[in-house]
Amino acid sequence: MPSELEKLTSAVSDFVNQADQLEVDPKQLRSQIDRLEGMFSRVVRRRSERGDHLVRGHCSAVSWVMSTCTMSQSSASDRLCVGKQLEAMPEVAEKLSSGEIGYQSAAVICHLSHQLGEKGERLDEAEWIGYAREFSIKDLNLLSNHTRYVVDPDGFDRETEENYAERFLQISEMDGMYHLSGVMDPEGGSALKSAVDALAKRLGGDDLRTPKQRRADALTELTYHALEAGTLPKRQGVRPHITVTTTLEGLKGEVGAAAAELQPGMVVSSKTVQRLACDGTLSRVLKADSVVVDVGRATRAVSGAQWRGLKARHRGCAFPGCDRPINWTQPHHIEFWAHGGPTNLPKLLPLCYYHHRLVHEGGWQVVQIEEGVKFIPPDHEVRRRARAPGMRWAA
Ligand SMILES: [Zn+2]
Ligand SMILES: [Zn+2]
Repeated sequence: MPSELEKLTSAVSDFVNQADQLEVDPKQLRSQIDRLEGMFSRVVRRRSERGDHLVRGHCSAVSWVMSTCTMSQSSASDRLCVGKQLEAMPEVAEKLSSGEIGYQSAAVICHLSHQLGEKGERLDEAEWIGYAREFSIKDLNLLSNHTRYVVDPDGFDRETEENYAERFLQISEMDGMYHLSGVMDPEGGSALKSAVDALAKRLGGDDLRTPKQRRADALTELTYHALEAGTLPKRQGVRPHITVTTTLEGLKGEVGAAAAELQPGMVVSSKTVQRLACDGTLSRVLKADSVVVDVGRATRAVSGAQWRGLKARHRGCAFPGCDRPINWTQPHHIEFWAHGGPTNLPKLLPLCYYHHRLVHEGGWQVVQIEEGVKFIPPDHEVRRRARAPGMRWAA
């Protein structure tokens, strides 16, 4: 006689191999998976109660579920908590078993019950089953958090501090790019998100960037804005800035010139160096000599008078359709000084970070015409490519 699990295995095999995927109703399929997830939670709970994890040499039930079922720590402890709470909440357990409420809804109720249980409180099962039927998981979580806050403010505060301790930000170099990962507390995250969102909107009709790319650029803009305000604390007597190592030949993009670097080993194109040098900071240093130099870009080199003149002539970024105000722009030299262009007012144009980059690296041209300037797109379409973290471009 095959066991019940063997029968299920064979039925699942038949289903997976034979069912027409377009005919399967995702809602019903999810409901069956959720019923089994509830069952799984009760199974691992019962077995850990029996001490199965100790027999197999694990000091905790969580580590036993993690290694036996190849699950993350958070998933393993979630299932064990749900399994335990379902034992004390027969109505919720029954609705999950019958597929009337989903696993994630049941899990929210179980975690709340666990938290309230520590305070000796019981939640009203029927009421919460009603909420689970009515609300999305997000709203159910919100309701759970509010309930928790009211019943156990001290516990809520403690948990908030525990979560706060988990915050981190990592900035690492990867394949000639920087890779960011991080977790932020609700306040810091909201502040960052609202600042990034404010800068991540499309800049005019020609803006072909994806939302992800616009958010990355927004962070760069925010950072430049903070650096250029000149109010960040000094380190070893100097304001924080980016440093370019280059030569006059490299800056001009001459053939055979050594590549410029931002950090040791972080090579950048001559076009990028030309953009960084566009405001003139590098000119005074490099024109005298062509040796390799480190040049900080902590402040603008365009004089105060020129900057005021630029402000009087332009309200913001000169690119058509761009909303960046003048204080979020950099002065672009229409004729690049390293190619012999002068630094006088009619030849300067305020451009935001993105449009300045389009002009230098993106192949757009700025030409002076009688009534002002004209932006001309590159004649070839730049192919957009996406790259997953940890993946290299195919050779
Ligand atoms: Zn420029
Ligand atoms: Zn712009």
